[in-house]
Amino acid sequence: MSGNDPVLLSNTKEVQERFSEMIRETLTSIFNSFSDDSAFSGIDPYELRAKIGNLGFLPEEGKGFEKVLEETEKEIMPHLLRTWSTKYMPHLHSPVLTETICSELIIACFNDSLDSWDQGPAATEMEESMIHGLLGLFGFSADKGDGCFTSGGSQSNISAIIAARDWYCARKFGWDVKLNGLPPEYSKLRVYTSEISHFSMDKASHILGMGYNAVRKIPVDSTCRIDLGAFEKMLEEDVAAGLYPYCAVATFGSTDFGSIDDAAGMRKLCDRYGMHLHADAAYGSGLIMSQKYKERIGAISMCDSITVDFHKMFLMPISCSAILVKDRELLRCFELHADYLNREEDEEDGYINLVGKSMQTTRRFDALKVFMAFQTRGANGYAEIIDKSVGNAKYMFDKISRNPAFIAPVEPKLSSVVFALDAVDEVNKKVRRQLLSEGTVIGQTVKDGRVMLKFTLLNPNLEPAQIDEIVDRIEALGKQLS
Ligand SMILES: *Cc1c(COP(=O)(O)O)cnc(C)c1O
Repeated sequence: MSGNDPVLLSNTKEVQERFSEMIRETLTSIFNSFSDDSAFSGIDPYELRAKIGNLGFLPEEGKGFEKVLEETEKEIMPHLLRTWSTKYMPHLHSPVLTETICSELIIACFNDSLDSWDQGPAATEMEESMIHGLLGLFGFSADKGDGCFTSGGSQSNISAIIAARDWYCARKFGWDVKLNGLPPEYSKLRVYTSEISHFSMDKASHILGMGYNAVRKIPVDSTCRIDLGAFEKMLEEDVAAGLYPYCAVATFGSTDFGSIDDAAGMRKLCDRYGMHLHADAAYGSGLIMSQKYKERIGAISMCDSITVDFHKMFLMPISCSAILVKDRELLRCFELHADYLNREEDEEDGYINLVGKSMQTTRRFDALKVFMAFQTRGANGYAEIIDKSVGNAKYMFDKISRNPAFIAPVEPKLSSVVFALDAVDEVNKKVRRQLLSEGTVIGQTVKDGRVMLKFTLLNPNLEPAQIDEIVDRIEALGKQLS
């Protein structure tokens, strides 16, 4: 043991006093590194790499907590990204509600795990209870449906695709994928999603042994939503060619534009062809908390499964996501009994073992964050947060649309605004880099072959006056760097 750093927490006063001190010192270091209101120090990547490289890897003798905290405060913390800053607006990467940071401390202090009841009694019951509530919130039956917390939208999406594939193969070919692996027809299975949907669908298809080519990309219309006519035509052609459409994914909030696919229209086609319909609502799920905007995702309950990310619009620490399914049988694809972990006899006696619903084994008690945030803010508090960010995006879009110096191709439905200075790509790129070095972090993407700047306005502390300021700064930089 080095110095007086306790190895573990315990019920003794001495350990608790020392640990409280460690927490206080950690907070002091964190706040010391919040030197101003910028999002980033602006350090260049080579300098930062050298700095980090100099920190060493594993010393022979431990330096003790205080010394390590000092180094971390000096060398690392100043260059961490400050997600709480209103000057941070590039990605679907959110600032976090203060109560959820406290949740993380609780989660870490106990370190319960969600694989079996005896590894997390209250954690298991709390996750089940939150899943119940979430099913109702998104319009699924809490009795018939089911769900599970995951590490993020990517894992929620792949979970849904596994469930859809296994369900389809059982129904269509009488084939048990869990037992036998992919069916002989595997190379003809197809999943449909928009051309601007999240890449986790391609990754999932590769990981599942079906490859990128099994993901059919449906063109989008001028509002960045799936072109239903094109989808219908694609299905007709593919079926005529002997392919097997097993799943479609409606995006509720595309990563760049926040566009929302017409899931009701997709539902009709999925029913016609006997397909699973998954809602990738990693981004847009937050709208469910808004009385004003929730009808924009109203069709979500028509889907068979839903990806919800709490570490985006819901403002919770990474990671926190869930997969919800309308029919609990769908999640059986992950069920497997191990003698040492989830004995069937325990489950008969009411000891639920959540490992049977998850791709993971050891799993974090992320549901606590959702519980504490929901209880702290209430429906009204959350509605205010979501309305503010959607309102800010509208404010920014309106401002940009009125200014001939800019082009803004798609009206936002969520909280992101994609636009460009009406100048060559190089100027837009330079503007973003210049802002980064000034501690203002904005995003960049491509639309119709053109470089675009992107704002994802998740921060409820952002005020319209600050939006005016940044838009004016971009316009000025555009002139300067042209
Ligand atoms: C962010 C995002 C994902 C991926 O979620 P992670 O939590 O980052 O794994 C998937 N789909 C959409 C639409 C997203 O915006």
